[in-house]
Amino acid sequence: CLFSVTAIRGGDRRLSGVVLLLRDVTRLKEVERLKSEFVMAASHELRTPLTSLGMSVGLLLEHAVAGLAERDRELLQAAHEEIQRMKALVDDLLDLSKIEAGRIELEFESVSVATLFDHAKAVFKNQLEMNGVSLTAELDAAAPPVRADANKITWVLTNLISNALRYVGKGGHIALAASVIGPCAHLSVRDDGPGIPPEFQSKIFQKFVQVQGREAGGTGLGLAICKEIVRAHGGAIWVESAPGQGSKFIFTLPLAR
Ligand code: ADP
Repeated sequence: CLFSVTAIRGGDRRLSGVVLLLRDVTRLKEVERLKSEFVMAASHELRTPLTSLGMSVGLLLEHAVAGLAERDRELLQAAHEEIQRMKALVDDLLDLSKIEAGRIELEFESVSVATLFDHAKAVFKNQLEMNGVSLTAELDAAAPPVRADANKITWVLTNLISNALRYVGKGGHIALAASVIGPCAHLSVRDDGPGIPPEFQSKIFQKFVQVQGREAGGTGLGLAICKEIVRAHGGAIWVESAPGQGSKFIFTLPLAR
């Protein structure tokens, strides 16, 4: 049930009444849940044929390439890239719909932020070298552990790092950092890329919002998934950025007791 309260004041500004508006959102929530269930079922069904289609076209590209005309090879390559893109979209949709339908179970444990950073850094070892990008992690050795599902938070970190990697360009720098503020740890991923215009900074956490529209290799769902995962941990996520001055994505996690 959603409610809002409005105060009514007389000419002398004294309170003369209150309007309390109650709105029953049970049906709305049920519609949202059914929508997530439908997206979940559809993306689940699409995943298997897309995987085999991707494998078949991939094999064709590998083995039949010598006998193919240049134009046919280009067409096959384009089809392969689109299949990979569609598969990434379907995977993201499946993840997001599962979270929205309350179908993910978090396996909470007490885990150090250093371990989470190490897991995420390991994923990018080769990619960083290939792209000439440096990645540093700065963290207080005495920082207490957080209460988190290590796999899911590693997913959040890797998504933020892969976005940063996409925007920093050769010679760029990505910095991971963590600090403790009150009962929470603040984890951040900062890059020296192009930054994000202020009017987009809250919107990019919504589904399918991209600053340039259909950005290379992206689905527009990564940050929406990050937000849901962080929210399921009882935390919050936001970005601090200015055009030309890089971006810093920050999220909070509760400390383990
Ligand atoms: P995508 O699959 O497009 O990366 P995300 O939800 O992860 O989807 O990000 C949404 C949009 O936010 C991106 O398309 C991009 O416009 C912007 N964005 C995300 N991370 C960065 C970053 N580090 N620097 C600049 N822009 C970013």
